[in-house]
Amino acid sequence: MRAVMQPEPLGLHQVFDRCETLFADRPVVLGGAAGPTTTTYGELFAQARAFAGRLTELGLRAGDRVATFAPNTREHLLAYVAVPGSGLVLHTVNIRLSGKEIAYTVEHAGDRVVLVDAALWPEWSAVALPACVEHVIVYGDIAELPERHGNAVVSRFTDPSGVPPREGPWYRPADENEASGICYTSGTTGWPKAVVYSHRSVYLHALTLCGADTFAISEHDVVCPVVPMFHANSWNLPYASLLAGASLVLPAQRTDPAGLAECFAAGGVTFSAAVPTVWANLVAAVGAGEVDPNALSSVQRLVIGGSAASETLLSELAELGIEPVHAWGMTECSPVGLIANPPADAEAAVAAASKSSQGRPMPGLDLRAVEDGVPAPRDGASIGELQISGPYVVADYYGAEAGAVADKFVEHGGKRWLRTGDVVTVDERGYVRLVDRTKDLVKSGGEWISSVALENHLLAHPAVQEAAVIAVPDPKWEERPLAVVVARDVDAAQLRDFLAARVPRWQVPDRFEFVAEVPKTSVGKLDKKRLRGEYA
Ligand code: ADP
Repeated sequence: MRAVMQPEPLGLHQVFDRCETLFADRPVVLGGAAGPTTTTYGELFAQARAFAGRLTELGLRAGDRVATFAPNTREHLLAYVAVPGSGLVLHTVNIRLSGKEIAYTVEHAGDRVVLVDAALWPEWSAVALPACVEHVIVYGDIAELPERHGNAVVSRFTDPSGVPPREGPWYRPADENEASGICYTSGTTGWPKAVVYSHRSVYLHALTLCGADTFAISEHDVVCPVVPMFHANSWNLPYASLLAGASLVLPAQRTDPAGLAECFAAGGVTFSAAVPTVWANLVAAVGAGEVDPNALSSVQRLVIGGSAASETLLSELAELGIEPVHAWGMTECSPVGLIANPPADAEAAVAAASKSSQGRPMPGLDLRAVEDGVPAPRDGASIGELQISGPYVVADYYGAEAGAVADKFVEHGGKRWLRTGDVVTVDERGYVRLVDRTKDLVKSGGEWISSVALENHLLAHPAVQEAAVIAVPDPKWEERPLAVVVARDVDAAQLRDFLAARVPRWQVPDRFEFVAEVPKTSVGKLDKKRLRGEYA
């Protein structure tokens, strides 16, 4: 039997048309070329229409790719609207990749136009630009620009185009599975892999983030996406905010504790999201008296994701009167897949345990932990690889070489499962707890040691600010854990004793390296690949 409901395609046009119609008066504070400006969604959409007109004038056709090379700015947000809103595909280039990787992703995506922040011109101009790029548009303060970069014509964002702004409703895809954006994974092994989001997947994911039991983003919120807009669409917070009518505050480059505190206070931010180090630095700055805790008084919820949040960080945020929300995600899952909100009927202990887990699946997603091809029991103890399926999970990587990604997916029970490479347990209530990434587990004398568990214990020591545990080869045990820590007034013997009271003796690292800062990846996670290169 066929339903009689309208087959209206899901897409970003619903987000944009709704925001422009209903929330035009909402104030937004946007960091940008001329410093932070307070504006409204009405003005923002007017500017996006002007930018869309200009893109059309460049002769782009539906499905063509337009890239950004920018931090979280007003102009970046304009591209978030104008590009998919014109039927084009937004490729948000990760500005922290190497020049070679940037050139690779631009060529792989086939970008025709790139929007570049002037502050990043030194990095951008050093990229050997592939021939596909026809136009480079630069915004911000910059005295001199060359006429060409590679084959591309260089112009300024502010150059008058004489082109009328786009009119009428935003681009409505004939097929909701048309592409709206491309993000590349950070490529810890081999070249970055391309995830192409559809209008449908982005819409469904954004809508889901507005659910009361997910991130609960609503018109009452002021959302500050600290996570970069080139990292998995800033975890889809910009689109969720436009959809809900939440006000947005974009911090541009000011993601240091003092900059964030200023941004939060100026915009009355209620909700923000970033990787654990960002929040750990903010908490430390409050502790050191460098940031006034009153500057954070409007903040209600902070999402911690991208890497495991330690229990220490969760309780430190709670002590500041902020509700920490731990979430797990992957570029491949749009990206938020799990959220650690406690169950309604939880006693205090269960609530605390569930909040420090990686969480339960977002509505629409299905998951399983698989060990030797068989789903592991949901008992909170049996481990297996996390596999995920659902309408906003990748079914394939765009333009991957034949066979190169075949092992990333499994077909089972009529579903296509993405193999995440994360080793987890799942408990009776469906909470997932990450044991480790497969490649980060330490195999000592045939037994597995979780690097994440050791890091979390180390972070509970008051003298430790950062901790990363990696496997190093060992002639006797095959591998042994090595801890790289940032700490004050503590030595290896004291940390060993501290750990020995919390984990079995044989798991305690033999070697400790004290450093000024643990190296981070392009998206701010502990760079274990680099650490292995240095210490293994
Ligand atoms: P890449 O895989 O290229 O590093 P992603 O940013 O998509 O890029 O990283 C996804 C991975 O990050 C996950 O597979 C998982 O290992 C890790 N991760 C994300 N969120 C969490 C979390 N809350 N706790 C632990 N690990 C996490």
